[in-house]
Amino acid sequence: MSLQLAAHDGPRLCIDLGALEHNWQVVRGVCPGSRVGAVVKNDAYGLGVSNVVPQLWQWGCRDFWVATVDEALAVRACLPADARAAGLRILVLNGLAGLTAEDFAAHGLTPVLAGPHELAALTGYAARHDKRFPVALHLDTGLTRLGFGTAELAQLQSGSRLWDDAQVQLWVTHLGRFHDPEALQCQRQRERFVQWTAQLPRAERSVATSSSVFAGPGWHFEQVRVGSALFGVPIGAHAAELLQPVASLRAPVLRVADVSEGTEVGYAGSYVTGGPRRIATVAMGYGHGLPFSLVNCGHLILAGRPAPIVGGVAMGMVGLDVSGYAPGEIQPGMWAEVYGRQQPLQTLAAAAGVAANVVLALSAALAPHRRQCGAAETMEAA
Ligand SMILES: *Cc1c(COP(=O)(O)O)cnc(C)c1O
Repeated sequence: MSLQLAAHDGPRLCIDLGALEHNWQVVRGVCPGSRVGAVVKNDAYGLGVSNVVPQLWQWGCRDFWVATVDEALAVRACLPADARAAGLRILVLNGLAGLTAEDFAAHGLTPVLAGPHELAALTGYAARHDKRFPVALHLDTGLTRLGFGTAELAQLQSGSRLWDDAQVQLWVTHLGRFHDPEALQCQRQRERFVQWTAQLPRAERSVATSSSVFAGPGWHFEQVRVGSALFGVPIGAHAAELLQPVASLRAPVLRVADVSEGTEVGYAGSYVTGGPRRIATVAMGYGHGLPFSLVNCGHLILAGRPAPIVGGVAMGMVGLDVSGYAPGEIQPGMWAEVYGRQQPLQTLAAAAGVAANVVLALSAALAPHRRQCGAAETMEAA
């Protein structure tokens, strides 16, 4: 028997589906001539595939990008049984990763082949199944992570035996400076991609992600694949003002204490009060994804205003200096916004010296309570 609580006392993640739809339409609007695929790897960046994938499907998204087959099956499981007939494609970015073409075909999944070492697994597919196996292929234009490099392109040319067994649907490449498409290195990667694909069998091409999709039509090709921007996390200098935050996280105040000058706050005296202070203890720590580097820096939002973090981040708690609030204004049981509409995720991440996606992936995945809620509710958080 499990115990049921009417209320929760741990960090709560709210997922604003109105903001998700807004961001989806923003991305659609900047590349009207291209298909928009949703990148939902890592359980939709921590938000939960089941929270976002059915909605994206309803708004017309047909291409879903994940890293692994496990993630692909989770996407498949929350879509209608006839989704494939309605155009569903699930693209697996890690490639075959040791599995067989039949493993993918059994579930209607499309691997993004990671290099020539994966071609042997396709040999004889057409003879075995009387049809060709649909694949996407990664081209390594400069990131040196996955894909076929320049010396390996010959194996992909039109006359190759490969195409007896495989049918290419998409050519894919990924930018080394994904946050800065204007960088010279990105321009070079783009040129290589265009040159290479001009010599290869025709298929959709996909380069743009959350930053480059906003960098002009030269990046769009036939398909863009976007994760962060859909979830309201701006990447690089692009589009911050166009996107709305989808995730908001809050955690409860456990205690408020008035302390005198010279009091140590947190482990090992990482903060010592320079005068009388009021300290609130909030139930949010590194074990919930709050960056460990937030020692005496950064803020959480309490009663609509930023309260500075004092001391270090413990596994499940962090201290805030609330001396600036009226006496009694901050009470145990109030909720602090860690990030959301009042404090953008990227503001907290910048204070910690990490990328916003690092904070999102950890804190969202670790939040003991994740649910969909509207913008009004996320505002009421603090
Ligand atoms: C994660 C990832 C994406 C999505 O990037 P965003 O910046 O979050 O849009 C796209 N392509 C590849 C290969 C990725 O690994």
